[in-house]
Amino acid sequence: MPVTKQLYELQEIDAEIEHTRQTLDLKNGQVGKREELDAVQNKLKVDGQALEELKHKRREAEAELDDTTSKIKAVEEQLYGGKINNPKELGNLQHEVNTLKDIGDQQETKALEAIESMEEAEKALVNATEDLHKLEAEWQQQQTQLKADIESLTKALTDLIEKRQLLVSQIEPEAVDLYEKVRRQKKQAVAKVEQGICRACRISLSASVLQKARGGQPVLCGTCGRILFIS
Ligand SMILES: [Zn+2]
Repeated sequence: MPVTKQLYELQEIDAEIEHTRQTLDLKNGQVGKREELDAVQNKLKVDGQALEELKHKRREAEAELDDTTSKIKAVEEQLYGGKINNPKELGNLQHEVNTLKDIGDQQETKALEAIESMEEAEKALVNATEDLHKLEAEWQQQQTQLKADIESLTKALTDLIEKRQLLVSQIEPEAVDLYEKVRRQKKQAVAKVEQGICRACRISLSASVLQKARGGQPVLCGTCGRILFIS
């Protein structure tokens, strides 16, 4: 096999190695990463606290209403108990009952609103908790998949490195050195030649350069400095 073809194959393996490493880095970075899940969990905690406050408000509103109901009952007992006959006094008691009933009506509305808000919050919390459980299950599944991916990528990387070592051992050391040198400068060391043009820099190559390149020995593109490969 011509050296340039070997170098081109080496470049393809190197590209695969790099891609595999990048994917591995990305996947490794995702292991145990649960910011999104934590945010949902924290929001749920805050919602839970808000619900407790609403429950407290409901109890308060109901206690106020109970208090007013007891007061009404007490005043009505006086009013209808038969012990008080003074019309002015009775008129005052009736007025008191009316006032208390107005207050009671307002308190009842407040208590009903508090119950409604609390029930809404309870429902929302139940739904959010269900969503969180779903998210958690998905997350667990993703993590399991991630670990499997990492395992197979690590294996693939090991195989690629072995393949590279084997290939390098079969190439003349000078050519490998040249490849490494150009690669450090250009990242892509080998350029394919198509229709007499270097595909990396898209410049036409001279007839003499093309002739040398056809011979299979490493020749550099006069413009971009890459090793030319004619397939
Ligand atoms: Zn070039």
